[in-house]
Amino acid sequence: MASVYPYPEAMRQSPFVFNVSDLVGTSASGRSVTVDTTVDWSLELIRLVDDEPVIADMTFHPVSGGVAVTGSVSFVTEETCHRCLRATTTERRATIGALFDKEDDDETYPLDGHEIDVEQMLRDEVLLSLPVVTTCGEDCPGVVDSAQNDLNTGASGDDGILRSPFAVLKDLLGPED
Ligand SMILES: [Zn+2]
Repeated sequence: MASVYPYPEAMRQSPFVFNVSDLVGTSASGRSVTVDTTVDWSLELIRLVDDEPVIADMTFHPVSGGVAVTGSVSFVTEETCHRCLRATTTERRATIGALFDKEDDDETYPLDGHEIDVEQMLRDEVLLSLPVVTTCGEDCPGVVDSAQNDLNTGASGDDGILRSPFAVLKDLLGPED
């Protein structure tokens, strides 16, 4: 009985696994491939937003002994500013350039039979492209001083009507003074 699907069920479910038997060892001009999925990749202070898609536009090229993958990947991150601890989201893009072959070394990714799994490669390219230090931007209010009220409110021109914590406390305690 012929299978309806060309790949085993487990393989077919991964959006990162591709059969490249049409390319390896041939002189084909290449094949365009898109991965559009969500991931949960993260570093300490920065993570990919898990309900925004990671979209990788790639071209698979046959090269001696394997497949070269080029292209770019776009994604959205949520990061915590290392100074003010404010959370921001940023649309980002990283360049892809990787080699898949049967060599067992650190420079290339594995060609497993006729298949390549681009997940580890994309994860590497994405995470390596992220900034080591995350800053919310030019208007960063700076290091939060826990002894003060919200620095954002204070800086936005309230004409000095910022109330001290003691005034608030006074109100809570009632008019008797
Ligand atoms: Zn900041």
